[in-house]
Amino acid sequence: MKKKYIIGIVVIICIIIAIIILNLNKNTDQDDGKYKIVTTFYPIYIMTANITQGAENIELVNMADINTGCIHDYTLNTEDIKKIEKADMIIQNGLGLESFLDEITTNNSKIKIVNTSENITDLIQENNEINPHVWTNLNNYIDQIITIKNELINNNPQNKEIYTNNAEEYINKIEELQKKYNTELEKLKEEKAICLNESFEYLGKQLGMNFINIPTNHEESTMSAETLKNVINQAKSENIKIIIVDINDDIKNAQTIANETGAKIYALDSALTGNLSKDSYLNSMNGNLEKLKEAISK
Ligand SMILES: [Zn+2]
Repeated sequence: MKKKYIIGIVVIICIIIAIIILNLNKNTDQDDGKYKIVTTFYPIYIMTANITQGAENIELVNMADINTGCIHDYTLNTEDIKKIEKADMIIQNGLGLESFLDEITTNNSKIKIVNTSENITDLIQENNEINPHVWTNLNNYIDQIITIKNELINNNPQNKEIYTNNAEEYINKIEELQKKYNTELEKLKEEKAICLNESFEYLGKQLGMNFINIPTNHEESTMSAETLKNVINQAKSENIKIIIVDINDDIKNAQTIANETGAKIYALDSALTGNLSKDSYLNSMNGNLEKLKEAISK
């Protein structure tokens, strides 16, 4: 009799706990009515933050930590999944960088996926693979802004005017910078350079430079001894004076090439990491302009 009584109490307690948990979930999942925008990683967040500044009744969050860098082989954590599941819109770079989204979003057709690279035609392809780091070319960056702006207007029309004005203002700033690139770096046209970080291939193309691209998966130290030897020979025979790396790269191999050939290392910013300032992309690309100016007539 006593045993049954205890079991009865335990069952009741379990039911009460279950009800509390269900209610708690209900409260946290309750929709606050805001249009929820999730960007996949840092460069896309900065673009979107500029376009959505001052928009009403929206929430913008970035999925990956801002110090993650590039997200080629990114594995989603539980926090990421929570953000994705609540999203009304997910904005991605595309071109294979966010393959982790495929599985999640096919199960949830309510989420609008925006592929910011969908209208970019000037793509760089090597060994049957498209280089996804399109944003280092200012023209591509503008294309990405326009795609985000249009999709925001289509899906959250209440902020149409804000999105339109913000995008226009941001594009104007990028175009100003573009003019500086065109005039101040004109002498780099046709100039040969060894590029040890694939992020800058698009920047090199924009400048009309002649890059010798060494695939390193964002880390120049991964270069094999044989590749290093070949690069040194090529730099010597073609009298190449410029080596491009990323500011976050280990520059061990770049240093060896520089020592052997007399070429100079230019550490550029791929805008893959940084602070949350809305101007951080502009600042990165301005810094790159100044560094590249040093490469003229060296
Ligand atoms: Zn990358």
